[in-house]
Amino acid sequence: MSFVRSEDGGVPVLRIRPLEEAGCLALFTLRPLGFAPGPLHTADEVRRTRAALTRAWLPRPAVVVRQVHGTTVLPVGPMPGPDPHAPDPGEWSLLGEADGMVTGRPGLPLAVFCADCAPVYLYDPTRRVVALLHAGWRGTVGGVVERGLEAMGAVAGTRPADVLAAIGPAIGGCCYQVGEDVRARVEARLGEEARRVLDRREGKLYLDLAGTISLLLQRAGVPASRVYGAGLCTACHPDLFWSHRRDGGVTGRMAAVLARRT
Ligand SMILES: [Zn+2]
Repeated sequence: MSFVRSEDGGVPVLRIRPLEEAGCLALFTLRPLGFAPGPLHTADEVRRTRAALTRAWLPRPAVVVRQVHGTTVLPVGPMPGPDPHAPDPGEWSLLGEADGMVTGRPGLPLAVFCADCAPVYLYDPTRRVVALLHAGWRGTVGGVVERGLEAMGAVAGTRPADVLAAIGPAIGGCCYQVGEDVRARVEARLGEEARRVLDRREGKLYLDLAGTISLLLQRAGVPASRVYGAGLCTACHPDLFWSHRRDGGVTGRMAAVLARRT
């Protein structure tokens, strides 16, 4: 098992062992906690929940982006060091509008929020740089995975062959019914291999989002043996995950967190 359940400070998470063993902090939070404001969680509740995660698991408050299902990956430049005057652990820093971040700074947690979309964790243990992406179907066919790898190359000279990648829990091919518009985009992107991730059952079309991301990682040069999947469908596990599709939008958000430890 690459994703292992753990709990500290009342904050249940999955820990991604291959990345952690290589020198990262790599987490995915579980229900009942919600990490972005929405119909179920107020901004105040989210601030308290983020503070609890920071205290339990993180070296400092995380950096986040305003996610727009796009392909922009922002480098995290010099950040102010830990505030000696007791920073609010629930006050996470908003970097800008994007769906990914990249940094070579140790001890700086990146976080994205998901409820069916896939978080993609990338770590290059050779050049010691991390990137964290938010990838739904739109960002995935748009190229957010490739932009993430390119950003690591620009920041640190990363070669895709050196990258360890993990794809967090996302809505699975069991539940992710999509329309013909999505099929057309996926086929345009993957060509013949689209058959591996699109499934038609009883006249309905389903997409394997994590499988699509895995294919694109491999096409970009990340070895299959270095790509780890959670293999957990967010919609199939209401005990563990929020799911935008299953819950009809009245749902919360999990947090995916990635940092270099040292
Ligand atoms: Zn499912």
